[in-house]
Amino acid sequence: MSTPDGTAVGPARPARPSLTGDHHVHSTFSDDAVSAPVENLEAAARAGLRTVRMVDHVRVSTTYVPSFLAVVRGLPPVDGLTVLTGVEAKILDASGAVDAPPEVLAALGRPDGPDRVLLADHQLPGPDGPWSPRTTRERMAAGLAASDVLDLLVTATVRAMHRVGRAQVAHPFSLLPKIGLSEDDVSDEHLDALAAAAVATGTPVEVNEKWRCPGPRARTRWAAAGVELVASTDAHHAGDVGTYRWLGALDA
Ligand SMILES: [Zn+2]
Ligand SMILES: [Zn+2]
Repeated sequence: MSTPDGTAVGPARPARPSLTGDHHVHSTFSDDAVSAPVENLEAAARAGLRTVRMVDHVRVSTTYVPSFLAVVRGLPPVDGLTVLTGVEAKILDASGAVDAPPEVLAALGRPDGPDRVLLADHQLPGPDGPWSPRTTRERMAAGLAASDVLDLLVTATVRAMHRVGRAQVAHPFSLLPKIGLSEDDVSDEHLDALAAAAVATGTPVEVNEKWRCPGPRARTRWAAAGVELVASTDAHHAGDVGTYRWLGALDA
């Protein structure tokens, strides 16, 4: 299917993701999380989840990914629960480069690699590299337009989806409140560009409990375009795995 301007769209999907999955769960391999993978597995089983994606933070210099994957893939099987893997990396710059080790990117989807890379907007992917929220706010105060900032973010995210091939968009737009913007500043064209890239590359997009994003407008528009929305807690503690206080109360 396609829109009148030729943008690829898929069949419509639900605007509220299934809460039987948690597609973004951190373990002690991330230095800011406290639970071991086996504790997250047990929590996922207790919560009655059918899918859990175990994910930890990486940078280009990270070396622990083989041991992380060995631990996760060595977990005891739980009936009815599928365990997926991933690494979370920030989008570095406007070219869509991501802050992950090249050998990890090369091994994506292989038995010796993670299933997917979670693309994170922890900083603004600028033309010359990542801009911190503070730097971004300073440049906006000096005259950079909000629409140009959003262009950078959207263009880099679209390019990262295509470059990585096996991505998942983590907490889309979580950066915006940190730079004084909101999803109301995002144009329909930007939403549609993200949707087209997600559909074309088969990239799932998170609805993230921790960051409470994206909002209803993006979710509805993306679902109508055929984007696969997946639920995630971004848990850094096993007690939060599969716990959806905000997401569970959403109408759509
Ligand atoms: Zn993140
Ligand atoms: Zn995370």
